[in-house]
Amino acid sequence: MNIPQSSFPRIVIIGGGFGGISLAKKLRNKEFQVVLLDKHNYHTFQPLLYQVSTGGLEPDSIAYPIRKVIHDFPNTYFRLAEVLAIDTDTNLVKTNIGALKFDYLVVATGSTTNFFGNKAIEANSMSMKSIPESLNLRSLILENFEQALLTDDLHEREALMNFVIVGGGPTGVELAGALAEIKKGILPKDYPDLDTRRAQINLVQGGDRILPAMSEIASKKAEQFLESLGVNVWKNVRVNDYDGMVATTNTDTVFRTATLVWAAGVQAVSVNGLDAKELLCRGNRLKVDEFHKVTGFEHVFALGDVAQMESELYPHGHPMMAQPAIQQGENLGKNLIRMSEDKSLIPFKYNDKGSMATVGRNKAVADLPKFKSQGIFAWFIWMFVHLYFLIGFRNRVVVFINWVYNYIKFDREARLIIRPFKKKYQVNS
Ligand SMILES: Cc1cc2nc3c(=O)[nH]c(=O)nc-3n(C[C@H](O)[C@H](O)[C@H](O)COP(=O)(O)OP(=O)(O)OC[C@H]3O[C@@H](n4cnc5c(N)ncnc54)[C@H](O)[C@@H]3O)c2cc1C
Repeated sequence: MNIPQSSFPRIVIIGGGFGGISLAKKLRNKEFQVVLLDKHNYHTFQPLLYQVSTGGLEPDSIAYPIRKVIHDFPNTYFRLAEVLAIDTDTNLVKTNIGALKFDYLVVATGSTTNFFGNKAIEANSMSMKSIPESLNLRSLILENFEQALLTDDLHEREALMNFVIVGGGPTGVELAGALAEIKKGILPKDYPDLDTRRAQINLVQGGDRILPAMSEIASKKAEQFLESLGVNVWKNVRVNDYDGMVATTNTDTVFRTATLVWAAGVQAVSVNGLDAKELLCRGNRLKVDEFHKVTGFEHVFALGDVAQMESELYPHGHPMMAQPAIQQGENLGKNLIRMSEDKSLIPFKYNDKGSMATVGRNKAVADLPKFKSQGIFAWFIWMFVHLYFLIGFRNRVVVFINWVYNYIKFDREARLIIRPFKKKYQVNS
């Protein structure tokens, strides 16, 4: 891998997401050699992926080059590499570009979509965990309307204009709201010769309320906002199967749709060599102690979505969100420095800064530690928080300008089929 020898201990971090980057920042200029590995050369700001999928933002405004993050980190090396396995006996990370010895290893590989073993849904649905997946979804949505314009078959046209989003968490809610706004503000202008009023946006939630991790009032308000935008909210409905055209559920409800977005579950991205049953908890998360150490190891750590740190307040680990990952990265950084100074370690304490979701223009819900808000004020808080945490000054400016433009013009100009997406199941094949 061409990493120079160093007299300092080598810390290998797998993953340049929220957790990995936060740790690398904490270790800047410290007496360690830090090697950051990621299979992408950019950091993804996942909370805004749905805006890429719906043409509100270009993908490059929510991605940031990892090399630029570590520009002035003289003790840090980045390698574009996919980690294939870990050997904890020989302290070796094996990747597609070679192997590397470590003194300390930090797993920060994040999470991926969980289809709960349903192969048909996995093969036929769309997910939205990465920029390439968001671009695929953007293309498919637009291709559907182009195809709907061409077909004389009413059933086929309806399936092409029928969108089903499974999962009523923030991702599902935000995507449904954005699609509803496209239906209202953009489709009639772009497709004057198509009856776009027939487009349907369905949000399907297995439980009895959307946004189950937020307060009752946030759930209720978000549902009202969605309904005011024309989204059909289905509760206590679980999609059991989807063949690329028909989605069946645990009820009599059946959806005929060419686009089913699966936002109903996530699971940790585990790494070979650290995937023994006794190390993993529900959703493949690695069990760690309050110092981020993976069970049974003194020199292997995990943080962010991939780590499950159980405590009285969080018996199933911290929420799989950006803040726990960032704060864990900071705490682990402090502890690695303290370890090198023979000082006692600081147990991790999560500072919950709240959660929020936006439904659309002037419509958001926010549960913050000191107050709850729904509507336009929450929407401003949502925008401010997302701009603040976006990495890179240019990205902040570009996103802000895009939002102002979209707000004034009721527009989403990135509705481009740059990279056509070929769905395996074609409606009329
Ligand atoms: C659509 C969507 C919307 C979200 N909205 C919000 C929100 O509004 N608020 C919020 O707080 N959170 C939100 N989240 C969750 C949040 O993005 C995650 O909790 C957060 O990214 C976790 O950080 P992490 O560092 O653990 O992992 P990630 O940020 O996912 O980073 C993991 C990194 O590891 C790399 N990697 C994985 N496997 C390998 C490998 N084998 N080899 C090399 N590199 C590898 C990946 O390329 C990636 O860069 C959202 C997530 C999604 C998908």
